[in-house]
Amino acid sequence: MNFIQTRGNDQNKLQSITFSQAILSPIASYGGLYVPQELPELGVEFLNKHINSSYKELASDMLNRFEIDIDKNVIEEALSLYDKFDNPSNPVPVVRVKENLYVSELYHGPTRAFKDMALQPFGVILSSIAQKRDENYLILAATSGDTGPAALETFKNRANVKVACLYPDGGTSDVQRLQMVTEDASNLKVIGINGVFDDAQAALKRLLASDDFKSALKEKNVSLSAANSVNFGRIIFQIIYHIHSYLELVRQGAVVMGEKVYLNVPSGNFGNALGGYYALKMGLPVEKIIISSNENNVLTRLFTTGKYDIRGESVIGTTSPAMDILKSSNVERVLFDMFGEVRTKELMNDLEVNHSYELISDELIKLQKVFAADFCTGDEGKKYIKDTFSNHGYLMDPHTATCFKSYETISNPAIKTIVYSTAEWTKFSPVIANALTGEVDAEDIIALESISKEANLKIPNMVKELFNKEIAQKTIIEKEDIEKEILKFL
Ligand SMILES: *Cc1c(COP(=O)(O)O)cnc(C)c1O
Repeated sequence: MNFIQTRGNDQNKLQSITFSQAILSPIASYGGLYVPQELPELGVEFLNKHINSSYKELASDMLNRFEIDIDKNVIEEALSLYDKFDNPSNPVPVVRVKENLYVSELYHGPTRAFKDMALQPFGVILSSIAQKRDENYLILAATSGDTGPAALETFKNRANVKVACLYPDGGTSDVQRLQMVTEDASNLKVIGINGVFDDAQAALKRLLASDDFKSALKEKNVSLSAANSVNFGRIIFQIIYHIHSYLELVRQGAVVMGEKVYLNVPSGNFGNALGGYYALKMGLPVEKIIISSNENNVLTRLFTTGKYDIRGESVIGTTSPAMDILKSSNVERVLFDMFGEVRTKELMNDLEVNHSYELISDELIKLQKVFAADFCTGDEGKKYIKDTFSNHGYLMDPHTATCFKSYETISNPAIKTIVYSTAEWTKFSPVIANALTGEVDAEDIIALESISKEANLKIPNMVKELFNKEIAQKTIIEKEDIEKEILKFL
């Protein structure tokens, strides 16, 4: 299968490229993205075939239908990383919490957030492509706390790949910071910045676009790539768990095969939701995809009014920081799929130049046939965390909690809902401790202990051990010095 471009072709790039090429250079003509030329049709026949399959068997067959240019043994090795999850025979448990609400837990991997679902296999694939071409890659990552640890974990000691990971010093939870600064491998560099996440992100974008930086890398025989979720190499692994979660509901007798469900997704850059959209297009029985946000509710406004408008806005810091975003990159792939390349280019250009775009009413109607959206404030989220724990014995993180609001405000109660849980309670313990016990501003280690006691949950070893590990990465710099620091590392 080949990949085409969301904003048409500028004549400098190829009209269509392979999966490997789309992974290595994810940005298409006019700043657009790559999308599959067509999606494989799976339908109920495929679902029936996999009703008793393991996660890996399902994943392997689905990837096979995409006909990507990756050797079968590499795909198998990539998928074998799901064996590192808590329960290798089912890396993604789906549990009923209340009424018709089921939670699909995407956080049972090594770094306790859903980024592992895609980044774990992605690391194997990218490194293998680099080795095959005999090329060296520098992966730049800027993180607010979940992508960084997952990227470091997957690329650690992999051949032909180095990672430079930028994080805002003081802007992540202690657990997230420790997950990064205790990573000790010669191909990894973690850089704390005196600034906020936006500073790290801006530095990354500047370097990715800088010809000077690229030629300095070239002298060292290194090419540049990025591991953020605009990379289709991540998206492809995010289709699988939507199909798996549906099959889990069938296996549990919660739905009969073919019965439609809601997918309710806590959304930031829209990679998770896009995976659900592609699953729907490929034949998964989905009533609607519900997009849940925090106070940064630009997606709620898009799906309710047809206007994407961030004029004069800046990101609001919230209790669900992985969703603190203004430009949600993967929405572009839905626009392309629904409205085509000419219109997508026009809309994305409006967003870049005027910081807003507006769909016409026919377009909005089309969008609303598939999507609905609502947002949840931090205080509302904490109430959902506390009430869900008190009334149903289920503990969730603040990102997952945003879905409980939209479940109440949007869903038809007769239809089953799959809520995607994107982080374990251990990653955002101060907020959760505050929700449960009212304690304020506790350090992670204190909050973890108090939640563990209150909820009678064990702190997983990989989290506990972080507090005793040696700090291997000590670099903290001003944002002006990032480029120099990276070149020094290479
Ligand atoms: C990355 C992340 C999200 C947002 O996911 P997108 O695919 O970017 O929409 C939500 N929750 C957590 C915990 C995350 O780490």
